[in-house]
Amino acid sequence: MRHITTALTISLISGAVFAEQRNAGSHVHGLNHATIVLEGNRLQIAYEFPAEQLGEQGHEEHKHEEHKHEEHGDKAHELSEKLETIESIFSMVRLPDNAQCKETEVTHSLTQVGGSDTTHAGHSDALIQATLECGAPENLMNLSFAPAFDRFDDLEKIEVEGVIGNKALSETLTATSSSLAL
Ligand SMILES: [Zn+2]
Repeated sequence: MRHITTALTISLISGAVFAEQRNAGSHVHGLNHATIVLEGNRLQIAYEFPAEQLGEQGHEEHKHEEHKHEEHGDKAHELSEKLETIESIFSMVRLPDNAQCKETEVTHSLTQVGGSDTTHAGHSDALIQATLECGAPENLMNLSFAPAFDRFDDLEKIEVEGVIGNKALSETLTATSSSLAL
């Protein structure tokens, strides 16, 4: 049973990384993806969103299409700096305190969205991946993405997929229904 869960874990985590391929090189503004895997005491959360959500820069680009090639290098740098100001996954998700989950690792990455797709040229996806150790994972009864909805004005929906122990998870959250019962 354990190695089956591990295989599923790996496929879900790499699924988040390669979501661009799944989406055929585009992304939908307002839609974010979260992947959650709990195995023993280890909780992994991946959160992926269109990089435009990081600030006004993305909107500016839409208004000044002709400038985007010259500005691209600076913009990518600026986006990754903005992304790295999100230091913790707790900026996106809230866990019950009594589950005692502590972040042990957080990584950030930006992936260019389909270069040949002119409507998405210059667009990127941002990905935050966190590993947490939970002292009492049995208390992970619910999880709330209210912090993400508070942070991003343009966020409409979060598609959540995951595996908690041996239970698969698949739900769509909105601002008015931002919590997930586990
Ligand atoms: Zn975009």
